[in-house]
Amino acid sequence: IREKVASFERLEAINQTVASVAHEIKNPLTTIKGFLDLSLKSNIDLDKSQLTLLTSEVDRCITIASDFLACTKKSNQAKKILNLEKIIRNHSLLLEKDALFNQVKLDLKLDEVSNLLIYENEIKQLLLNLTRNSIEAMEQGGKLIISLNEDKDHVYLKIKDNGKGIPEEVLEKLGTPFLTTKENGTGLGMTICYQIAERNNAKLTINSGQGLGTEITVSFLKEGLMHE
Ligand code: ADP
Ligand code: MG
Repeated sequence: IREKVASFERLEAINQTVASVAHEIKNPLTTIKGFLDLSLKSNIDLDKSQLTLLTSEVDRCITIASDFLACTKKSNQAKKILNLEKIIRNHSLLLEKDALFNQVKLDLKLDEVSNLLIYENEIKQLLLNLTRNSIEAMEQGGKLIISLNEDKDHVYLKIKDNGKGIPEEVLEKLGTPFLTTKENGTGLGMTICYQIAERNNAKLTINSGQGLGTEITVSFLKEGLMHE
C-alpha cells in the first residue's frame, strides 16, 4: 500500500508540474495566435514591432521549454573527479562581461580545496543560475563574491551579492517551479539548483535579508573521496 501511495504522489507531482508548464507556455502562444489570426483574417501584414513582439513571445516559449528540460534531464555524462576552482575560474571568464555590463564588481576568493566527484555540466548550470540571479538582483550594480573553502567533511561554494534580497514569501517557497518575481523570469532556476545539489551530494543554504543581499552556500559532502 505504501508503494501505491508513493507512486500516486509521484504522479500527482508530475501532473502538477506538467500542468504548470502547459499554463506558462499557453500565454505566449495565445498572444502569438492572436496576432496571426488578426493578420490572416483582415489580410494585414504584421509590422516590424509586431514581429518583434512575436519573436520575443516565441523566445519565451523556447526559454521555458529549455529550462524545463534542464530541470528533468539527467546528465548523460558520468560523474568525474574535478577541481571546483577550475570550473569557477572558467565560469568567471564568461561572467565578467555580464558583470561589467551590469556594473557589478566580481570578486573571487578561492582557496585550494579537495577535488569532488561531480557532474561538470550540472555544476556549470548551478553556477550560471545562481550568479545570474545575483546579478539580476543588483539593478543598481554591486558586488558579487564567489568563494570556495573547505573543512574536514565539506567543500563550501558561496555566492554572495549585495542586491535587493529575497522577499520572505519567496524565500519560504524557493525551489517551487515557476515561482518568480521577475517580469521575464521562468522561476525554474532555483528548482534546477536544488535538483543539481541533490544529484551532486550537496545542500543549499540560503541567507537573505531584504535590502541587504543574499548569500547562497552550496555545501558539497566530501564523503567517500580520496583527499589530495
Ligand atoms: P527566476 O530567476 O526566473 O525568477 P529562480 O528560480 O532563479 O527564477 O528564482 C526565483 C526567485 O527567487 C526570483 O524571481 C527572485 O525573486 C528570487 N531570488 C533568487 N535568487 C535571488 C538573489 N540572489 N537575490 C534576490 N532574489 C533572488
Ligand atoms: Mg533565475
